[in-house]
Parts: sequence; structure tokens; C-alpha cells
Amino acid sequence: MAKIHELTEVLADQIAAGEVIERPASIVKELVENSVDAHSRQIDIIVENSGFDSIRIIDDGDGIESDDVFTAFKRHATSKISSRQDLFKVASLGFRGEALPSIASVSDVTMITSNGTDSGTEINIRGGEIIKHSVAAVRQGTDIFMKDLFFNTPARLKYLKSPQTELAQITDIVDRLALGNPDVAITFTHNQHEILRTAGNGNLQQVIAAIYGISNARQMVYFENEDADFRVTGYTSLPAVTRASRQYITILINRRYIRNYQLTRSIIQGYGSKLMVGRYPISVINIELDPILVDVNVHPAKREVRISKEDQLGQLIATALQESIAQENLIPDALGEL
Ligand code: ADP
Ligand code: MG
Repeated sequence: MAKIHELTEVLADQIAAGEVIERPASIVKELVENSVDAHSRQIDIIVENSGFDSIRIIDDGDGIESDDVFTAFKRHATSKISSRQDLFKVASLGFRGEALPSIASVSDVTMITSNGTDSGTEINIRGGEIIKHSVAAVRQGTDIFMKDLFFNTPARLKYLKSPQTELAQITDIVDRLALGNPDVAITFTHNQHEILRTAGNGNLQQVIAAIYGISNARQMVYFENEDADFRVTGYTSLPAVTRASRQYITILINRRYIRNYQLTRSIIQGYGSKLMVGRYPISVINIELDPILVDVNVHPAKREVRISKEDQLGQLIATALQESIAQENLIPDALGEL
């Protein structure tokens, strides 16, 4: 008798979910990215008990037409790419079609969505099983509510850290999403307590102030630089304003937050000998490039990417920072803050 059989869809989704959905912060990331991809102007993130109880994301984006709602929860189902060529020039944050089925396979998800033209839809999926699928009269946009995370995968539930740690992870990802999308009004509320609110007016400095405080934002200088392949812009703190960790550096490639050791080094390099050993700046750097120059399909959560001409980009960044810091480096002295 044959011993090999295909896994059921639900089981396959649960296995795949392990790569995409590690913790509550991964859910926030995936859902907010979906809202951004759907051209939302306003995104509200409402979390209870660090996501152990629930995560709700409300957006005013494109919504999903009723005929597509069921498909959206299928694995590898996406509206964002369709051909192999598209994969080499991904312009959206998502494209793998894995987030919704993954989340729905390991939690209880209710989505209410409308594209503003046909009648809206409400769908409830728990552990990959459809519990409810009906018409719902709603405004355009998407409201997605997740509870009982990892109820059916106890090992993963156990792997989660303390509520404080999980909340810190969520806050970190929300901050990076807000920094990457200053033209979207984002609110983040935890246990009825507002943690972040951005205006959505496109002003990155204001978003930086909302996250790192006004006095830090005032001590950051603007930089820009470009060549035939890349354009870099952003704000970086004067050498007097530093932190003991690299995590106050946000690198965004075409608005996607990524981690990259080499580019982080280039930022630090821009300070020359002005930074003390073990001290790092607060920086937000936007890198705009032709998507053909970046492969985002190397990491399931897309945290790491592969960039062509990375050395050239690194130099461009180092020079940009060096010049801005040199021009502004007298300001802290003038303010008597050193
Ligand atoms: P991906 O983002 O990689 O396409 P997802 O599983 O995250 O895959 O989402 C599947 C599809 O559902 C998306 O391609 C998109 O068409 C639709 N979708 C998901 N979330 C939203 C949203 N908030 N607003 C509009 N459409 C959405
Ligand atoms: Mg997605």
C-alpha cells in the first residue's frame, strides 16, 4: 500500500504558517502591509493583551470584491503578481499570497470587507475551517479581527515570549511601518491606550517625532544623494544623539523595512570617527530603486533582501550622511548640548 499522500490544505497551511507567522507582531506586519498595498489612507491597529487576546486592523483601502474573498484565503492566491516576470519587479509589499491562509489556519479570523461597489462580505475562518460566509453591508475598506492565536498549535503558543516582549515586537514593527508610510494615517492602540498616531500628511519628520520624541527629531539632519541606480533620502541624528543599539536605524527599500548588515555599516561609516564605539545613530533611510535591482523573495517574512550593486549603494549612503553631518555638526555646540 502506498505510504505517501498529499497533506490536506489546512495542514499544509499550518506548516507554511510557521515561516510567516512566528508571533503576534508577524500578524500585525502582514495585515498592515496588506492595508498599505490596498492604497489605504487610514489604518487603525487595535491590539489587546499583546495580541494574545486579539489583533484588529481597520483600513479604508480598496477592499476585496465579494467573489474574491474566499480565494484571498487560499494559499498562493494573490492579486499582486501573476507572471514570472512580475516576480523580478515586485512593487507591492506582499506577493506570496501566504499571509491570510497562514493566519486563518492558526487562529480565528473574521474579515469584513467591501470594495465599495458590490455588497460587502463577512467571512469567519477558524483553524482553516470556514465558519461563516455572508453578505455584510459595510463601507469600503477592510476590517479584520484575529483572536485565539495558535489555539490549535500549542507548541507555537508556548514558544511566545512574555506579553511585554511581544508588545515590544509589535510596537517595533508598527514604528517601522509608520516610518515607511508617512502618507498613511496610522493609529496603534493597545489595551485601549493609544501608543502611536501619525497624521498621514507625508511629513516623515513628524512621524520621527511621534516615535522618537520631538527633541530627538530636532537633532536629526536631512540627507539625500543619488546616482543612476539609486536615490537615498532620510534623516539621521547628529553625532551627539546616539543609542546603544542598532535598532534605531530603519532601512527602507521602496518603502519596505528591511534588515541589512552592510548598509547599516555604511550608515555608521558616514559618521567617520564621530561616533563612540558601541554607539549608533537614530536614522531613517529611504532607498528608491528600480525593483529589478532587488530580490525580495529570499526570506519568508521578507526581512532580508538581495540587492544588486550593494557596494555602490553603500558608498552612496555613506557619502550622503557624511556631507549632511559635516554641514550641521556645529549645531549641537552652538546649542551647548555637548
Ligand atoms: P499577498 O499580500 O501576498 O497578496 P495575502 O494572503 O496577504 O497575500 O492576501 C491575499 C490577497 O487578499 C491580496 O493579494 C489582496 O488582493 C487581498 N487583500 C488582503 N488584505 C487586504 C486588504 N486589507 N485590503 C484589500 N485587499 C486585501
Ligand atoms: Mg499580504
